[in-house]
Amino acid sequence: MLDRREVAELVSQLVSIESVNPTLVPGGAGEAEVGRFVADWLERHGLETEYEEVEPGRANVVGRVRGSGRGRTLLLNAHLDTVGLGGPDGGTTPRVDGDRLYGRGSYDMKSGLAAIMLAAARARDLRLAGDVVVTAVSDEEDRSLGSERIAATVQADAALVTEPTGMRLAIAHRGFLWLELETQGVAAHGSRYDLGVDAIARMGHVLVALEKLDAELRADEPGHPLLGYASLHASLIEGGTELSTYPDRCVLKIERRTLPGETVEAVEAQIRAAAPEAEVRTLFVREPLETPRDAEIVERLLANTQPLLGHAPEVVGVPYWTDAALFSAAGIPSVVFGVGGEGAHAEPEWVDLGDVERVAEIVLATIADFCK
Ligand SMILES: [Zn+2]
Repeated sequence: MLDRREVAELVSQLVSIESVNPTLVPGGAGEAEVGRFVADWLERHGLETEYEEVEPGRANVVGRVRGSGRGRTLLLNAHLDTVGLGGPDGGTTPRVDGDRLYGRGSYDMKSGLAAIMLAAARARDLRLAGDVVVTAVSDEEDRSLGSERIAATVQADAALVTEPTGMRLAIAHRGFLWLELETQGVAAHGSRYDLGVDAIARMGHVLVALEKLDAELRADEPGHPLLGYASLHASLIEGGTELSTYPDRCVLKIERRTLPGETVEAVEAQIRAAAPEAEVRTLFVREPLETPRDAEIVERLLANTQPLLGHAPEVVGVPYWTDAALFSAAGIPSVVFGVGGEGAHAEPEWVDLGDVERVAEIVLATIADFCK
């Protein structure tokens, strides 16, 4: 059994090492220092440990409890980076008040990281057939460079990402595409309506068409049982040079949230059909997540959560994207399960220390079951 002091101490140590994502917040410390701490800790607890920088200062740590062979491998994943620091309770000085531990990263997600470290350290005593692989990664809050590398290099039979879900088991979330649309005009002096073509006015038609498309997406009954609907919104717009000139181009960036089963090609075709006057380019794609309810990892987690919580956890879809989709896209059935608390990307940020203990126990029981 874990003790509360050990849990609180590890979460505190992790929170007190600043690891703000430097591409999200210029000047952020990155993951090197916290990565070294995690690597040392895992090594001291008997795991085969590798520390790697996917970019300078951007650490990935992989710790492995090697099984005796022929068992299934479980990948555990948590991110090392945080969003920017806030005031006292969104900073790097952890504060414990009753069951709560306050500080940046306490909830999202150094507590989830602590839970998988503690569970993996104890898994050494289980004499498993399969491997347990703890992955502590960089850059989840921005481009997910860390988990991209893990998904390309680590083999596993299932993955568990311990992002905070309030003790609910998330098996699905939407993906997204970022797209850029461009309309052309003809530059001319503002007095020359005979020559000028207004690219911004053309984009106006595109915006109206996209608003209509979004309404249609969200009227597409019955929707996904866990995720609701696909959606899109305009994010950034740029065009024009000065007041007395017809703009020759306007560029709009949009985000389209996708449901499981939607392909990039189909989404691009849909946008092109809605906005024929614009040139459409895809900038960035993240896949959705949908793991079947009868996947082994889902069933094992449900079975092992029931005795600890006294009830089965709610099986849900979550609104946000997670690194679990990267493992899923690599063919690894993946789920998200983690603590309760508050303050992801906000302040104050706190975690329920009782939940950290419970998540660690549930992860350990699931390891025992899945990797035996
Ligand atoms: Zn997170």
